[in-house]
Amino acid sequence: MREFDAIVVGVGGMGSATAYHLARRGQQVLGLEQFDRAHDFGSSHGVTRIIRMAYAEGAGYVPLLLRAYTLWRELETLAGERLLYVTGGVDAGAPDSATVRGSLATCRQFGLDHQEFDAASLNAKYPGYRFPKGMAAVLQPDGGFLAPEACVVNYVKAAQALGAEIHTRERVIGWDSFAGGVEVRTEHDSYRTRSLVITAGPWASQLCPELVPLAIPERQVVLWAAPLRPELFQPAVFPVFNLEAPEGRFYGCPVFGVPGFKIGKYHHRREVVDPSGIDREIHAEDEAVLREGIRQYFPDADGPPLAMKTCMFTNSPDEHFILDAHPEADNVYIAAGFSGHGFKFSSVVGEIMADLALDGGTKYSNRIGMFRLARFHGKAG
Ligand SMILES: Cc1cc2nc3c(=O)[nH]c(=O)nc-3n(C[C@H](O)[C@H](O)[C@H](O)COP(=O)(O)OP(=O)(O)OC[C@H]3O[C@@H](n4cnc5c(N)ncnc54)[C@H](O)[C@@H]3O)c2cc1C
Repeated sequence: MREFDAIVVGVGGMGSATAYHLARRGQQVLGLEQFDRAHDFGSSHGVTRIIRMAYAEGAGYVPLLLRAYTLWRELETLAGERLLYVTGGVDAGAPDSATVRGSLATCRQFGLDHQEFDAASLNAKYPGYRFPKGMAAVLQPDGGFLAPEACVVNYVKAAQALGAEIHTRERVIGWDSFAGGVEVRTEHDSYRTRSLVITAGPWASQLCPELVPLAIPERQVVLWAAPLRPELFQPAVFPVFNLEAPEGRFYGCPVFGVPGFKIGKYHHRREVVDPSGIDREIHAEDEAVLREGIRQYFPDADGPPLAMKTCMFTNSPDEHFILDAHPEADNVYIAAGFSGHGFKFSSVVGEIMADLALDGGTKYSNRIGMFRLARFHGKAG
């Protein structure tokens, strides 16, 4: 049986970065991925992912974001390719909404550049936006988007260049930990490793049943629409947005790639799914949810659909991440439950998981307390 220093199960957003950071430290790494190197079936596809520094989800994320930006820029240098596009980021909603208050609070606490707007002044500065009277917005100039498929592919390439083996189309069906190591079984083979890192996205609970109530896959849909006035939705004049509206929380990006104006809604139609049996068809109800957001807040983008895709969130009960050692198995570490906002962090999550797999600890230990499994004690089934 072949032996490795570390095995990473799931080579998506988090797994590709983890494999790279492990290989960078001279480890013999094996990455096992059930599909292809970047694919459309998990959580890390769809042309763009928002990255932003102002973080209403919690001030504890901001130091990790500072590091994530640095690591994305490092990957761009390694790849010789642009991966992170800065457009500015708008956080908007009622002035007392969690999004606006939280975004402002993190800007103030960390001294981040920002500007506050009422609806009329934001609409005048960025005419693609048509926010109603009474809304407030925070513009943070470092916001923008990543190109997720290229991020995954470039982390895989960088890991391979350092000697990592990445096996695609090799699904892991189980693992057993024993004193000093872990045995990992796939559909084709078995391997031994000193440390196992599970970065299986929506499938995490299939490999760790403890996560069944803690990392719950949810179907999402995004829509790219052809703007009626394309000039208003270009990256130079249209910041990414995160909008807490009465209808729900919409997010989106300027025209890039597909090329259309992109919109999604957090928790779309609140459909909990089996990741292997998710309905990937697009239905009229899916488009209706997203059209509502376009018509209400971005009417000049309300042209024909160019593309629609399904994707999955993996929600934890408090929508904070899970980064921790396995509760019962030595040498096994879990990164899961990214709850619809994880991709921007995958560069730094890879670094943290490599630390944990190598040393059992991390220089970020004072930053990741909020991501430990212990917070759910009493809630796990
Ligand atoms: C529509 C949508 C929009 C989003 N927008 C944003 C955004 O704007 N900004 C942001 O920061 N985040 C965003 N997110 C969240 C972010 O994309 C996710 O948090 C992140 O991609 C999760 O990465 P992951 O590595 O956990 O999962 P994945 O990238 O899905 O990786 C898991 C991998 O594990 C593999 N795998 C699973 N089981 C096995 C097995 N048994 N054997 C082998 N391989 C296996 C899978 O095939 C997959 O490749 C969004 C998510 C969605 C769905």
